[in-house]
Amino acid sequence: MKVIVVGAGILGAAVAFHLSRIPGLAVTVMERGAAPAAGVTGLAFGWVNLIYSDPDDHASYQLRQAAFEDHLRLLRDEPALYGPVRRGSLIWKKTSDATEAMASRQKGAGTLVDLVNARSVARLEPHLALVPEVAAYVPDDIALSPAVLAANMLADAAGRGASVHYGQAVVLLQTHAGRIVGVRTADGMHGADAVVIAGGEGTGALVHEFLPELGLFVSPTILFEFAAQRQAVAHIVCGPDIEVRQNASGMVIAAEGYIDDRPENAPARYGQRVGAIIEAHFPQLGTLRLQSARVGYRPMLSNGMPHLGPVPGVDGLHLAVGHPGVILAPLAGRRLAEALAGGG
Ligand SMILES: Cc1cc2nc3c(=O)[nH]c(=O)nc-3n(C[C@H](O)[C@H](O)[C@H](O)COP(=O)(O)OP(=O)(O)OC[C@H]3O[C@@H](n4cnc5c(N)ncnc54)[C@H](O)[C@@H]3O)c2cc1C
Repeated sequence: MKVIVVGAGILGAAVAFHLSRIPGLAVTVMERGAAPAAGVTGLAFGWVNLIYSDPDDHASYQLRQAAFEDHLRLLRDEPALYGPVRRGSLIWKKTSDATEAMASRQKGAGTLVDLVNARSVARLEPHLALVPEVAAYVPDDIALSPAVLAANMLADAAGRGASVHYGQAVVLLQTHAGRIVGVRTADGMHGADAVVIAGGEGTGALVHEFLPELGLFVSPTILFEFAAQRQAVAHIVCGPDIEVRQNASGMVIAAEGYIDDRPENAPARYGQRVGAIIEAHFPQLGTLRLQSARVGYRPMLSNGMPHLGPVPGVDGLHLAVGHPGVILAPLAGRRLAEALAGGG
C-alpha cells in the first residue's frame, strides 16, 4: 500500500514517523519547502502542556490529555528524537486568587499541577527577580524545539524506507469513483492508495473541493529570539506579561500575541519591549540582543477541534490539521497510522 503525506511540518513528520513503522506501507512525504519545518512549525514556541486546555470542554481536554501522554511516552522511549529539552513550567496570573483558581480547576480535571509559594518559585527559578506570591508548577511540561523534533522524525522515517521530497508542491488531489488515487505536482501525477494532507495553512486549498466546510483560518502570533549573556531561565516561565524559555545553547525564546500593524507594534520594535520585560524578570541574562522577531500564522479550525482522520466521502483521503499542532503531533501520527494500518 502506497501512502503519500503532504507537508513536512510537525504534523506531517509525526504521521510519516508512525506510518513508516508499519510493515508493508510505502511512505512518501512531499513538502513544497526546502527543508523540514518550513511552515509555521519553524516558528513555534515548543511548549507541550495540558494547562492551557479548558477542562469544561471535555472533548478537547481529553484529546489534549491523550496527546500530552503520547509525548511523555515518546520522550521516555525515544529521547534522541527530541534532542535537548527542558522540563517543567511555572505559570502565574495577575492575582494570586486567579492563579489559585486556575491551578485548582486544572488539578480537579486531572492536570498534574502543584501550587507553589514564592519561596519554592525562587528555588525553582533562582534568577527570577520579580517573584510572584504563588505560581502553578507543572513538572512534566516539555520545552522542545519543534523543528528539531520534526527533522528527527522525518530522518527516522527515511531510515525505515520512507522517501522524503522537498521542493515538491502538491497542486491537486486526484480522485476516481469516490477514492483518492494520487496527487499531482509539477512533475506529474503520483499514484497512491492513501493520502494524508498535513499541509498546515495550505490544507484548505487542497481539500476545499472535498471538504468546503473545513473552517480553516490562521491566527498570528510572534516568536522572538534573543541572544543572552548567560543561562538564567531554567523552566518555561509564563506570567501576565511574559512567556519565555531558554534553550540549551542559551537562546532566549519568547512568544507574544500579535497586536496590530501600526509601526510601534512592528515585530522588531515590539521585540525591544519584550526584551526589556524579560531583562527585568531575569537580570542575570545580561543585555538581550534581539536575533529575530517573526510572525507565524497558526492554522486553526473554526469548531475549535483539529481534524485528525478521514475526509468523509473520499476513501483513502485523511487530514492532520489543527491547533495546537506541536502538542497534538505524536498522537495524530499514531492515530492516523492505526487507521491506515487497519485498511483506511
Ligand atoms: C509563535 C508561535 C508559538 C507557538 N507555540 C506553540 C506551542 O508552544 N505548542 C504548540 O503545540 N503549538 C504552538 N504553535 C502552533 C504550531 O506552530 C502549529 O500548530 C503547528 O506547527 C502546525 O503544524 P503543521 O504541521 O500543521 O503546519 P506547518 O508547520 O505549516 O506544516 C505544513 C507544511 O506543509 C507544507 N505544505 C503546505 N501546502 C503544501 C502543498 N500543497 N504541497 C506540499 N507541501 C505543502 C508547508 O510548506 C509546511 O511545511 C505556535 C505557533 C506560533 C506562531
